Amino acid sequence: MSEMLEKKDQKDSIVDLFGSKVFNVAVMRKRLPKHIYKSVMRTIKYDEPLGREDAEVVANAMKDWAMELGATHFTHWFQPMTGATAEKHDAFISPTGEGSVIMEFSGKELVKGEPDASSFPSGGLRATFEARGYTAWDPTSFAFVKGTTLYIPTSFISYSGEILDKKTPLLRSMKVLSNEAIRVLKLFGAADDVHKVTSSVGAEQEYFLVDKDMYAKRKDLILTGRTLFGAMAPKGQEMEDHYFGRIRGRVRHFMRDVDKELWSLGVPSKTRHNEVAPCQHELAPVFSSANQATDNNHLIMETLRRMAPKYDLHCLINEKPFEGINGSGKHNNWSIATDTGVNLLDPGKDPANNLQFLTFLIAVIEAVDRYPELLRSTVASAGNDHRLGANEAPPAIISIFVGDQLADVLNELLTGESSGKAKERTMDLGINATPTFTTDATDRNRTSPFAFTGNKFEFRMLGSNQSIAGPNIALNTIVAEVLREYADALEGSDNFEADCREFLKGRLEAHKRVIFNGNNYTDEWVEEAERRGLPNLRTTPEAFAEYCMPKNVEVMSKNDIYTDEEMKARQEIHLEEYSKTINIEAKTMLSMARHEILPAVMDCEKDLTTVLSQKAAVGIETKDSVEAVMVEKIAALAKDLLAETDALDAVTEKAAAIEDAQEQANSYCADVIGAMNALRATADELETIVGKEYWPYPIYEDLLFYV
Ligand code: ADP
Ligand code: MG
Repeated sequence: MSEMLEKKDQKDSIVDLFGSKVFNVAVMRKRLPKHIYKSVMRTIKYDEPLGREDAEVVANAMKDWAMELGATHFTHWFQPMTGATAEKHDAFISPTGEGSVIMEFSGKELVKGEPDASSFPSGGLRATFEARGYTAWDPTSFAFVKGTTLYIPTSFISYSGEILDKKTPLLRSMKVLSNEAIRVLKLFGAADDVHKVTSSVGAEQEYFLVDKDMYAKRKDLILTGRTLFGAMAPKGQEMEDHYFGRIRGRVRHFMRDVDKELWSLGVPSKTRHNEVAPCQHELAPVFSSANQATDNNHLIMETLRRMAPKYDLHCLINEKPFEGINGSGKHNNWSIATDTGVNLLDPGKDPANNLQFLTFLIAVIEAVDRYPELLRSTVASAGNDHRLGANEAPPAIISIFVGDQLADVLNELLTGESSGKAKERTMDLGINATPTFTTDATDRNRTSPFAFTGNKFEFRMLGSNQSIAGPNIALNTIVAEVLREYADALEGSDNFEADCREFLKGRLEAHKRVIFNGNNYTDEWVEEAERRGLPNLRTTPEAFAEYCMPKNVEVMSKNDIYTDEEMKARQEIHLEEYSKTINIEAKTMLSMARHEILPAVMDCEKDLTTVLSQKAAVGIETKDSVEAVMVEKIAALAKDLLAETDALDAVTEKAAAIEDAQEQANSYCADVIGAMNALRATADELETIVGKEYWPYPIYEDLLFYV
């Protein structure tokens, strides 16, 4: 009985816990006067501006609610170009002039903030003497209380209106996509009750957990988030025993706590499991609007990092914490749905005759084929360069997987011949007690960078540490652009169905080269893709060299996402970020090699030579002794290490002195990374022959298998 009660309590408490720190619709309905509540809902649903006086009432209700949850401060929470989030806390206090204070929060403070913006990257858009930037409330993502602060999601723009963040362009891209999708729906007579079309996103987050004390002993992990040295452990991921394996004690407790925290913040954390690599894990929430999903993903990353130390763990979200085993990515599941609840990428029971579905499907295929360089740039970073194309993640070539069933459907459209395979399939497991169920419209292909997975596309190239805003801005915008062209072409048609079919056939014919249903990890695909003319931008500098190509600038400026200058600024910011990252990594390696590895190696040499001289003193022959052989081997490697350290130092200095952002990034990519790899190879070899007691930091075995 008591156990049943407990279980019931737990169920109720999760329901109560969920969103308990969020100023969501239910709270607003309860706390706002009816007419104000209605106008806020109109703002949220239809982007109608909220009046000054209404904002005043909302601010006051928000403050009272937040203070009941223990908040003393508020902050405009924004997403500058660093890829992280930023916050500055202000107390609610307002002096009365009589030596006391009242707690106040005005509509003006809710709607607009003026943080000093001079130290955020702007790519030269804003001179430092014009440091002013504005933050503007985003009512479409709920405010929440974390700790003792009320967080208000905001956009961030400069004094003269240039975009300095990732939220503003994301909201703009959602708006154009909505407008153009509705135009297309009208052609099908399917837009009657539709006011808005939203891009929905579910982002699966991968991460590693290592022991906190071991982490604290590694300068590379502390300064760069990844190991820059380290020989592979005797065991890696080859036994495939970690993927979906039992979640062990400390990690399970950690995950439970993370879920509770996320639920209280209204983040619908749903799935947790062990990933492929040892000590690698994944968390996935239920999908929501691209805007909320982006805010939520920031909260997820922040919560994982913040909660880990409580369990003596450290959470690594870097894309490549360990050489030789899988790195971490983020799968961006993307679809578009009407506010009446229709998923426009749902094939339904008979996709071959679902012209509306085919229109949206082919629009996505065309968009991806036309703007691969743009999409590739949005996932480019120093960390992600270690994954893409490394047989653990999709290659840097963008292609689309649609699966056999849809391939048949598309083929039917092109040739007019039906293979009959395209209808909904039911799966009979041959086990009587198990009900038959409908299979997804696609089977699984884990190697594709952009896969159709039943009723959504899964963009799999994102790095674990990246904001998901960039890829979704690009996706929304390029799909909106193509939908606009479709609507323009078909709006005048008086034989719509036939015209539409013929039109789609032409578009598919022109862009079907981007579809690839095979194994993306093979060399044959790299060659085949080249024959098809698909770009293969292997590194971040290569990708960003194409970011501002005319067609990319045109699609962004035409849809009012970015101006030409804003694109150039973004290109520069990302190239600089890349160079800075490699520069820090190179310098960390130099410091570790000089201050830690070489002294450790010399300690070992000293002990060996002491033994040698002691043996010689008592007349023991030492010429071919173990000590003599070891000293010679270690001394030779140490000499290489010293030379490689100096070489890395020199190329790093040379790269750091280059002025032009593109040239500088090219130099870090070509020269500095090469020198880093050479130094690492020697150090890792030394690690395997010098005794463990000499080695200055925890090795892979310790890091990977003791959590
Ligand atoms: P996987 O098998 O790749 O782990 P899942 O089916 O578990 O994928 O779903 C992964 C993510 O996709 C989840 O965040 C889920 O909410 C999200 N998702 C499901 N349907 C949609 C949709 N229509 N639009 C966007 N995301 C979706
Ligand atoms: Mg996935």
